[in-house]
Amino acid sequence: MSHRTGGATKTDARPAGRGAPLRVLLTNDDGITSPGLLALARAVSRVATTFVVAPEHERSAASHAITLHKPLRATRVSLDTVDVPAWSTNGTPTDCVVLGVLDLLAKPPDIVVSGINLGANLGMDLIYSGTVSGAVEGALFGIAAVAMSVTAFRDIHWEPAADFAAELVGQVAEHGLPSDTFLNVNVPNRPAAEIAGVEITRQSTRRYVNRVEKRSDPRGRDYYWLTGSAETEESPAGTDAWAVAQGRISVTPLRLSMTYEELDPVLRSWTLPVPGR
Ligand code: MN
Repeated sequence: MSHRTGGATKTDARPAGRGAPLRVLLTNDDGITSPGLLALARAVSRVATTFVVAPEHERSAASHAITLHKPLRATRVSLDTVDVPAWSTNGTPTDCVVLGVLDLLAKPPDIVVSGINLGANLGMDLIYSGTVSGAVEGALFGIAAVAMSVTAFRDIHWEPAADFAAELVGQVAEHGLPSDTFLNVNVPNRPAAEIAGVEITRQSTRRYVNRVEKRSDPRGRDYYWLTGSAETEESPAGTDAWAVAQGRISVTPLRLSMTYEELDPVLRSWTLPVPGR
């Protein structure tokens, strides 16, 4: 077993063993009843042995939170429209991947897929996204991982994204992914025939603006509601937000390490004495 061993030499994200059936763990942040998760399970179960471990209710924007201060419970459930082993948990997407990999599945999966999320995960959404963090946790275990989202909140076309996920799972199984990397996929919300192509992209810097609404409750006390909308500035060609604006599926290769090498020489020119010297 090779989880959490770090380094580039481990055999993570390897192509599935010859003849061994591919095993895929699905999670999401919209909850176990999400139609996006069900569509994903139906599509992936056509190409792989599929397991679902997902939050019992929506945990969108949970980011990489884990549950440390209360018991975690996992309940075996039957899913609508698809017959695969499934568990509902009172945890976050990250908790779900941990429970799936370390306990619920008889052995770790070959691939983790998180989604299909209701709503895009583009640019700085990745910082907040529970969907993306489900994939990140897979990558932290040394398992090839993919986050899947559809770029709208209503009247969703799930099937094109689900079918693309099934194809991508086959490609990931065939080629593997390097250590400590994962894929973030955004599918434009339109019928398959109207999807303009597939673009390999980089993460944009798209972020949210106008994020706090202050209101008054019936007792006259202030309260806040976090809200906001994506900035409308157009993202540069080659980015995730640009690709979906062109009607293309965006596939972004990402890594877990956040080091920004270009800042290193700049910081070396700062004055940073050891305290007391
Ligand atoms: Mn969500």
